[in-house]
Amino acid sequence: MRILVAEDDPRLLVQLGDALQAAGYAVDLADQGTNAEHLGSTTAPDAVVLDLGLPGRDGLSVLRHWRAQGLQMPVLILTARGSWQDKVHGIDAGADDYLAKPFQMEELLARLRALLRRSAGQANPVITVGPVALDTRACSLQVDGRPVDLTGHEYRLLNALMHRTGTVLSRTELAERLYDQDSERDSNTIDVFIARLRRKLPEGFITTVRGMGFRVGAP
Ligand code: CA
Repeated sequence: MRILVAEDDPRLLVQLGDALQAAGYAVDLADQGTNAEHLGSTTAPDAVVLDLGLPGRDGLSVLRHWRAQGLQMPVLILTARGSWQDKVHGIDAGADDYLAKPFQMEELLARLRALLRRSAGQANPVITVGPVALDTRACSLQVDGRPVDLTGHEYRLLNALMHRTGTVLSRTELAERLYDQDSERDSNTIDVFIARLRRKLPEGFITTVRGMGFRVGAP
């Protein structure tokens, strides 16, 4: 899953980026509003963490712009402590949830997981398809009730496919969920990771759809 974080406090931005990467997400970082707006429109994030007080263009107008463009990704806004006006304006502008600063990183991660599940139509933090159960809290996999080790890349890839069970994801879409903005995105490596994942999963669990990409589950 790919998360965009827009925050102008450099320390908090780094903390957020590190915590999200450690939790298995591909992360894009923006420290001002214009850049955040551009990244939100061009990198197809699965969710956004958006500070409202941003230089360049404030978070509220960035959010209104995305929603006016028809972008539907869940947005968690960061508001100043005790500012109920910020929360009201944020939710009116199309935010899905908010957190007041300062916040516990664990709470932010939990709220983000809930937003991602809701937007994927999944109410449960464990996504189960047949004998395969992916725990999005613990970033762990079980097949037939037995734990199976995954590398970070394998987890991100399987998470992307299982959040969109029944949908074909192209190599490009998968690469966007696998790599951060600064790393080289080579969609050929997707086939390598898919091959490794297949060795850990029941036969036929990941379907190759010729000329289009890969799918988990029935269409
Ligand atoms: Ca700020």
